[in-house]
Amino acid sequence: MKEMPNVLWLEEIKKEDIISVGGKGASLGEMASIGLPVPKAFVVTAQAFRRFLVETGIEEALFRRLERLDVDDNGALESVSRDVQDLVLSVEMPDHIRQEITDAYTRMGADGTVVAVRSSATAEDLPDASFAGQQETFLNILGEGDLLDAVQRCWASLYGARAIYYRAKQGFDDRSVNIAVVVQELIRSEKSGVMFTSHPVTGEPLTIVEGSWGLGEAVVSGSVSPDNYVFDLRSERVVDRLIAEKEIMIVPEGEHGTKIVDLSGEQRTAPVLSDAEVARLATLGKIAEDHYGVPQDVEWAIVGDDVFILQSRPITTIKRPEIPRGGAEPAEKSKGTLGVVLVEGQGASPGVASGRVAIVRDVKDTSAVKDGDILVTKMTNPDMVPAMRRVSAIVTDEGGMTCHAAIVSRELGTPAVVGTKKATKILKDGQIITVDGEKGLIYEGAVEAPAAAAPAGATAAVAAAPVITGTLVKVNVSLPEAAQRAAATGADGVGLLRIEHLILGLAKTPGWYIEHGAEEEFIGELYNGIKIVLDAFPGKPVWVRTLDAPTDEFRNMEGGEGEPVEHNPMLGWRGIRRDLRTPDQFRLQVEAFKRLWAAGYDNLGVMFPMVNHPDEFAKARAMMKEWGVDVENATLGVMIEVPSSAILVEDFIRAGIRFASFGTNDLIQYTLAIDRNNEHVADMYQPKHPAVLRLIDYAINVCREHDVECSICGQAGSDPDMVTWLVGHGINSVSANIDAVPRIREAVARKERQILLDAARRNA
Ligand code: PEP
Ligand code: MG
Repeated sequence: MKEMPNVLWLEEIKKEDIISVGGKGASLGEMASIGLPVPKAFVVTAQAFRRFLVETGIEEALFRRLERLDVDDNGALESVSRDVQDLVLSVEMPDHIRQEITDAYTRMGADGTVVAVRSSATAEDLPDASFAGQQETFLNILGEGDLLDAVQRCWASLYGARAIYYRAKQGFDDRSVNIAVVVQELIRSEKSGVMFTSHPVTGEPLTIVEGSWGLGEAVVSGSVSPDNYVFDLRSERVVDRLIAEKEIMIVPEGEHGTKIVDLSGEQRTAPVLSDAEVARLATLGKIAEDHYGVPQDVEWAIVGDDVFILQSRPITTIKRPEIPRGGAEPAEKSKGTLGVVLVEGQGASPGVASGRVAIVRDVKDTSAVKDGDILVTKMTNPDMVPAMRRVSAIVTDEGGMTCHAAIVSRELGTPAVVGTKKATKILKDGQIITVDGEKGLIYEGAVEAPAAAAPAGATAAVAAAPVITGTLVKVNVSLPEAAQRAAATGADGVGLLRIEHLILGLAKTPGWYIEHGAEEEFIGELYNGIKIVLDAFPGKPVWVRTLDAPTDEFRNMEGGEGEPVEHNPMLGWRGIRRDLRTPDQFRLQVEAFKRLWAAGYDNLGVMFPMVNHPDEFAKARAMMKEWGVDVENATLGVMIEVPSSAILVEDFIRAGIRFASFGTNDLIQYTLAIDRNNEHVADMYQPKHPAVLRLIDYAINVCREHDVECSICGQAGSDPDMVTWLVGHGINSVSANIDAVPRIREAVARKERQILLDAARRNA
């Protein structure tokens, strides 16, 4: 690493400095260098961090601890992370670094400027290694003492548990990973918003500016309908404007927070921007577009007469993940162009992989499954998850798009084909095959995939620069180990965390823990598993669903011997109905939630599955209250996955739900009487059946009337066509599988822009 100062001002940053200032620092530097008015900032370089490690003498001890760590051992991961962070925080910053930082801060403004302090991690061989969001950011920092403290905390956050885990899984050596810290003046915007520098759909030279009062969060989060202005770059005139009724604005509050203020009177309907301001913004947008060579999605802010550009990124970074294909021609179902198709089913998790068949007829067989094999089985169950992690693809006889194998494979980023009916009979142990998880085809032999294609697991991270959508685009998570990949999609939160996968992975039923006096252990497992996901989504909503495991899945576990044998477990003792009748099991879950809330995880919401009557919600809420939960302030909601709950949604709202989320996997099966796991009727499982759509449409409307967030977390939320329909019908948020987030975000953005443009044209 060449000699580099401890502190660099934005204006001093050159392209080659990315390794010292990280992606964030470099992109701000680049914006400043082309003349965009970026808020004042300096960067504490990666070299300053390295000097800190060396000069304080902690470097070796720190890396030695990390090198000995097995990141798959959660307890050890948490404890090493804590120790290493304590180590970084326990030593004094060397005087010369401290001095340079405070000098720079003083130069920013005489009377103490309020700044944001943001981490920007870098790796020596990969300057901008997509570590976004894993390290800390501190807003509203004022004064030298707090600034130095925040910088040191950013450094420590390089060793947060999820950051260590992520790097280990991505193959980064901790010794080669550094961290820069951006210290930037915080803009207290009077007005703010976003703009698209060219027409987002047609590419015409029309700049579309959206703006609202106060901080940009209101527009970005969709909590306010912004004004919409269309500026024609050819005639240099505002050619269209839609002045919205702006009900609220978000403003800074106190030292560190923000608050929502109701707007009244004139400000509600007054135009946010004058024509001159729109023109000024469009001109800046044009500079960015010309520089980067593609239309940009730009965040802006105005204070008094000063215009600031906060961020600029391409509008169309997101493409449908490229699934490896053999040649340019799409494969036909029965005769794939890659070779001889041995068997086919439903493509349940995208990607192509070749390997040796390992047939698993019983969970005992899984010990013979080797890394990189292709697991072939009738249907996966939770005991097989460890083996599912090792294999390169998964093939099942049974199941549809929403079965256990499909959900877990998508989450692991492993290609999967389900519902083949006969793979376990046709395929032979040791045989080499290739699985195409998008088309649902199994080929004989190892078929070569084009080299340029990205593996399924990588696509989510590639699309991390999100298009901004008013409708929140969240992600579904079942396994804590998938939390990082889920967060790397840039999703707006977690719309469904299925905790049964966490519990089923323990191999013992909740009842076993209760009977054996091991309640604390059970609560701890839940607490830690959920915490990993919450930590991956700081400040974003995470809706954790209470247990929803059918009895047949519990039966294989220790303590599951007494589980009733049900004629149809899908219609049986699962979801909230079971928790209400086994209060001990419910109480342990609630205890874990309580501790997480007490630990400051305000972003945790709790969602009840399989409700069919508002009384169930009321009872669950009352039980939580009795156990000490502040239910008035807790975010509690329900899944809408039984037709009765869609029909009675207004009564649920009266009972106090804060949100509702369509579990279409179940809603479809219960509306149409089509078993979702039954491959014999899979062709009759129709997500867009008019009866299903009518139920959904009705529930969305009622939720909107009452201002209750309405969402979807079933598999249909990963289908761009369905999501386009849902956005058109007013859904507030959608939650998709990890692999689907980029294309869902694109579908949402497209539909929203169409709605905006239609409205603008109607008002022209
Ligand atoms: C659903 O039913 O759509 C849902 C998301 O829940 P699960 O798939 O876990 O039943
Ligand atoms: Mg369900």
